[in-house]
Amino acid sequence: FVAKIACKEAAIDPRDLFATLPDLGATAGSFRYFAPAQLDFAYPKGSQPEVAFLGRSNVGKSSLMNAVMRQKLAVTSKQPGRTQQPYYYGWMPNNTGKADVRPSDATAFMVDLPGYGFAVGPDKAVRSWQASTQKFLLQRHNVDGTLRRVFLLQDSRLGAPQAIDETVASWMDEHGIPYTIVLTKADDPLKSIKHANICCLRYQLQCFESEQDDILISPTVHITSSKNGTGIVELLSSIATEFESSPKTDEWVEDEL
Ligand code: GDP
Repeated sequence: FVAKIACKEAAIDPRDLFATLPDLGATAGSFRYFAPAQLDFAYPKGSQPEVAFLGRSNVGKSSLMNAVMRQKLAVTSKQPGRTQQPYYYGWMPNNTGKADVRPSDATAFMVDLPGYGFAVGPDKAVRSWQASTQKFLLQRHNVDGTLRRVFLLQDSRLGAPQAIDETVASWMDEHGIPYTIVLTKADDPLKSIKHANICCLRYQLQCFESEQDDILISPTVHITSSKNGTGIVELLSSIATEFESSPKTDEWVEDEL
């Protein structure tokens, strides 16, 4: 009987069940690039929320950010290891028509951080990456409270996180920075299953070892392809959720009062 009913039912698109999720997808295309010179110092001094994208050089970060923004704003195939500073993309759903937009007009930001693990380049460049990116993450999350989450990109075609990806994820764990793993280049999502399962294990390990409030890794693993659009809308929903979240530092203050 149940089977008969099931056959009569039309297939459900689970996304219909989540129609109330913030839909950044509808307003994608409303991102603007801000050159470092337009920002106050290295990054905006306002209190708008931001999410950062981080991964090994050539992981597909620029392509993914462009897919999310539905515009070619981020430069792809950059010379590995060359960019040593954060690049800011402001989300301005209400200012699309304006020519003269400022960082203060942005509702939130996506930040493109320099890639790590580049094979070329002297040790000095690697050390300088570590120092500047780590300083940025600590300042923006732990001090300014603007950085809500880091999206850690990993190449799904490698089938598993690389040693350096693990080092970076562990550094996030140690320093209290929330992160979500995003698998890139999953043109054939079936091939990403092994990699996605390893990410689930990392989450489970934290559940065993930590209090609920201390779990930094997200239980969500995004499986994406900027080539064929797999998982881009879902990633947008995650970003939108972070844009609407409150800074964790405020919660701590409230808890203490
Ligand atoms: P970045 O250095 O991390 O910013 O990486 P890029 O976005 O410049 O991409 C590096 C290379 O990976 C380029 O040759 C892209 O064409 C390729 N790439 C990026 N995204 C995808 C994808 O979803 N599928 C496939 N097959 N290749 C991709």
